[in-house]
Amino acid sequence: MKTLVWVEHDGKTVKDATLAVVTAASKLGEVDLLVAGSGVDAVAAEAAKIAGVSNVLTADNEALEHPLAETVAPLVVKLMADHDAFLAPATSNGKNIAPRVAALLDVMQISDILSVESADTFTRPIYAGNAIATVQTSDKKLVITVRGTAFEKAAPEGGTATVVSTDGAGLEQSVSTYVGSEIAKLERPELTSAKVIVSGGRALASSENFHAVIEPLADKLGAAVGASRAAVDAGYVPNDYQVGQTGKIVAPEVYMAIGISGAIQHLAGMKDSKTIIAINKDEDAPIFQVADIGLVGDLFKIVPELTEKL
Ligand SMILES: Cc1cc2nc3c(=O)[nH]c(=O)nc-3n(C[C@H](O)[C@H](O)[C@H](O)COP(=O)(O)OP(=O)(O)OC[C@H]3O[C@@H](n4cnc5c(N)ncnc54)[C@H](O)[C@@H]3O)c2cc1C
Repeated sequence: MKTLVWVEHDGKTVKDATLAVVTAASKLGEVDLLVAGSGVDAVAAEAAKIAGVSNVLTADNEALEHPLAETVAPLVVKLMADHDAFLAPATSNGKNIAPRVAALLDVMQISDILSVESADTFTRPIYAGNAIATVQTSDKKLVITVRGTAFEKAAPEGGTATVVSTDGAGLEQSVSTYVGSEIAKLERPELTSAKVIVSGGRALASSENFHAVIEPLADKLGAAVGASRAAVDAGYVPNDYQVGQTGKIVAPEVYMAIGISGAIQHLAGMKDSKTIIAINKDEDAPIFQVADIGLVGDLFKIVPELTEKL
């Protein structure tokens, strides 16, 4: 089977999420990458070094500067004439592009896979990760999004793929236009690739408290900062901090849940973390059921003490 992986990048480097997709694709067969963008030589050169990749197909066109689904999808569909499966990371952009590809190919999408069981059978989470479904497809062409935390990342070095230009073939007049984006500039590591995450919940009670209590601890640990939906909804931190079913799915080495009850929708986003540390004043809080280390007490006392001692 020949697979085509959409490479997520920022115009300069390949995003980490792509590496896990390469691993998933390699379980199906030969792996080609698609680097679509404007001025993509550096990204293509980096992509060509990823272990296990046969070809890097580039589509270089100003219209592709931003990964709009309406522009990328027709391009993918043309390239799918030579490929059997299209795979993208289950990130915001991947989840935007893949359904459009599936619709244009008139096949179903297999979303957020956790494993490749065989060439047509996959597992995926349902009910916020409380059950794992095994799904089998009879479609001739596969369109798949991949949960990045479920697959090892392919080695970013060691490959010698051939770079092939497709000259932006297949670009059609798009029905949507890029207007602008507001990107939060973070001094800290990105949530989805951080090794350590410190997350705060509703218990922080205000934005001021969140910044004063959570951030110094995260800074000491070189950690990314996350939050529960309750903390985000209350406006303590921006939406892109949210971890969980409707937020980001993370699996760091260490996840600290501070003043977070452990609702299933939050657990759906972090329960695969290697070590979970919970601080909560309620000893019956559900978060303690998944925690490896639990501290029962007032976070406003414990966290500053911990930060000071580190
Ligand atoms: C469809 C749907 C999708 C959702 N998606 C998400 C999602 O993606 N992510 C997410 O997080 N939630 C999600 N939710 C919401 C989820 O159900 C919970 O409401 C939310 O996670 C609760 O956030 P919390 O734990 O911060 O707040 P709470 O549940 O209010 O818990 C606060 C915790 O802090 C503790 N506490 C209070 N004061 C202190 C103190 N001084 N010191 C120590 N501990 C203290 C309390 O004992 C309590 O356990 C979703 C809900 C729905 C219905």
